[in-house]
Amino acid sequence: MAEEANPFESLQEQIDDAAAYLDVDADVIERLKHPERVLETNLTVELDDGSLGRFRAFRSQFNGDRGPYKGGIRYHPGVSRDEVKALSGWMAYKTAIVGIPYGGGKGGIVVDPKEHSEDELERLTRAFATELRPLIGEDRDIPAPDVNTGQREMNWIKDTYETLENTTAPGVITGKAIESGGSAGRVEATGRSTMLTAREAFDYLGRDVSDATVAVQGYGNAGWIAANLLEEQGATVVAVSDSSGAIYAEEGLDTQAVRDHKDETGSVVDFEGAEEEFSGEELLTLDVDLLVPAALENAIDEELARKVEADVIVEAANGPLTPDADEVLTERDVHVFPDILANAGGVTVSYFEWVQNRQRFYWDEERVNEELESVIVNAFEELVEAYESHDVPNFRTAAYVVAIGRVAQAFEESGVFP
Ligand code: NAD
Repeated sequence: MAEEANPFESLQEQIDDAAAYLDVDADVIERLKHPERVLETNLTVELDDGSLGRFRAFRSQFNGDRGPYKGGIRYHPGVSRDEVKALSGWMAYKTAIVGIPYGGGKGGIVVDPKEHSEDELERLTRAFATELRPLIGEDRDIPAPDVNTGQREMNWIKDTYETLENTTAPGVITGKAIESGGSAGRVEATGRSTMLTAREAFDYLGRDVSDATVAVQGYGNAGWIAANLLEEQGATVVAVSDSSGAIYAEEGLDTQAVRDHKDETGSVVDFEGAEEEFSGEELLTLDVDLLVPAALENAIDEELARKVEADVIVEAANGPLTPDADEVLTERDVHVFPDILANAGGVTVSYFEWVQNRQRFYWDEERVNEELESVIVNAFEELVEAYESHDVPNFRTAAYVVAIGRVAQAFEESGVFP
């Protein structure tokens, strides 16, 4: 297998590709290719056996010209400084394309949470929150969940921050449990925007998503909800995978039953409604109408891209295609609808959560879903307009043309200080 693409270099390449279609000063583009600030810290945590564990952790703040930094916190052994920098940049351009007033941020701890008890994870999370405290705040930087983190970790971070600051500040973090100031619809938001993007994409291409066969890579928060909502739209979810392998059923999988099985056993494999099981990689080359990568970066490289049989890819994960894969898929006329739009539901409903926290006035799920739909459908229309008017090779470049244009304008309007 070829050497793994560096996600930060991928981000920079994506920015350069789009910059060619924009009338923005080269110095400004260069500025918009780097984060403003990166915290790197070594967290020391007492483990259950009394020994000390040491964990590297990062927080990258990419660009604050459109509003406070915003982005998730990931727990994974593969977390690196460059990965966090790339993810923070993708957040900056994601918030720009959906037009919500945030800059980009991202954080991560190099840890495999499966190897730690809940008590250890709580101490680790609170240690990270303590390091983050000077950098975060309702108007500074607002973290959220990402891979292997969820409501539990968000509540620990909020509690640590509020305790140390001696205040009430639910808007310091999003993705909280409802009783702790979370928003209705937040858990489902990323999968929902993936479904909405797929629906709009099929419509744009003159097709109907309800007739589509679908394969979903990754059956965590983003992947399972996307699969479930696509099934609700009438699509046939023929295959899903997680880090243990893939399952397939020609007539379609019952996505809720697969979720229940994964909750019980820890994996989608051995699901009794499946006709076949194969490797996660094979799922990516299935002959389906729609492929939804919803696991991690670099899932599809150049070699795999040549074998992809799907007509349409909607990226629920961040950065699932390497730039080389993107090029191959563009050449092969596979329509790729990019992460910065398709998974923007997460940050959009995080924004709704933050707005509700600040107003101390909470919306019902119906309102959240309606507002989300309007944000994603508008952003999709703006994406198509950019695609058709700029003669760009693919929808990703069109998305960056819109997003970089907005961030560059805010940067230029802010001016340079001092
Ligand atoms: P998660 O931890 O809930 O789920 C990740 C899933 O991917 C798990 O089922 C895991 O088993 C699977 N996986 C890992 N490696 C795999 C492999 N090689 N093959 C197949 N499956 C594999 O994480 P999540 O929150 O669903 O995030 C998934 C992706 O979506 C990430 O790229 C994340 O950045 C992105 N995303 C998530 C949100 C959100 O709100 N959760 C928002 C925007 C983007």
